[in-house]
Amino acid sequence: KGPDPDIPLINERMESVKRKILILSGKGGVGKSTVTCQLAHALSEKKDLEIAVLDIDVCGPSVPQMFGINNENVHASNFGWTPIYVKDNLAVMSVGLLLEDKDSAIIWRGQKKNGMIKQFLKDVEWGNVDIMLVDTPPGTSDEHISIIQLLKECGVDGAVIVTTPQEISLQDVRKEVDFCHKVGIRVLGVVENMGQFSCPKCKNTSYIFPPSSGGARKMAEELNIPFLESIPLDPLIGRSSDFGESLKESQNSIANLIYSKMVDNVL
Ligand code: ADP
Repeated sequence: KGPDPDIPLINERMESVKRKILILSGKGGVGKSTVTCQLAHALSEKKDLEIAVLDIDVCGPSVPQMFGINNENVHASNFGWTPIYVKDNLAVMSVGLLLEDKDSAIIWRGQKKNGMIKQFLKDVEWGNVDIMLVDTPPGTSDEHISIIQLLKECGVDGAVIVTTPQEISLQDVRKEVDFCHKVGIRVLGVVENMGQFSCPKCKNTSYIFPPSSGGARKMAEELNIPFLESIPLDPLIGRSSDFGESLKESQNSIANLIYSKMVDNVL
């Protein structure tokens, strides 16, 4: 099998995308898409940055809902697909935006998923982008292998791993870290989500999962990767997903954190 003729086209399109960051998690439902979307909102508040979100969770795209653009459809032009702009400097592309019937299940084999991801990289009019966040499915699956291979020549700048503090989720994080090492992607850090809950009524803080092993912070230390932040379980965060809202600055620890601890490293 000869070289993939699409790779030069991808390279050409990606020339205008300065940084590409994968958002990973071992398990589903730990808040990976939430972190992706809120981080994108936060980064786009820095007005001089052009931000893009590419959702390659082909079978469970939740990014359109989280940005409140579920009813939008992508348009095709001579130059390719135009992404949906949540704001002037925040472009979003997801398979969820291409579906006529948003409730129909996507049952695709690896090759078809690979074809879709290729199109996202090659045929979307991304324009000039400073940081592209790529929301991936949980685990390490076809989609991860595809995107890493397709971006091999232009390079992936790093990965952020999202987890809950529960041992069962942390075990999978170790696998994600190992995966990143094997494919040569720098781990920018770990975000711990839903570790604690501050009750708005009684004002007490509860720890949702048993803090048996010291959580993600200890694991990050052991694995020698940066610990970025611990995000509480917060009804406002759940609400922001359902209603496609950006969190207010004061609540947005996701934002401030990653901006200060991660972005300085990659820009
Ligand atoms: P993943 O992408 O890992 O599958 P999601 O980001 O879709 O996870 O989050 C799963 C669900 O949990 C969503 O409904 C989301 O709104 C909710 N959620 C995630 N993080 C929080 C949080 N810190 N507080 C409250 N709800 C959250």
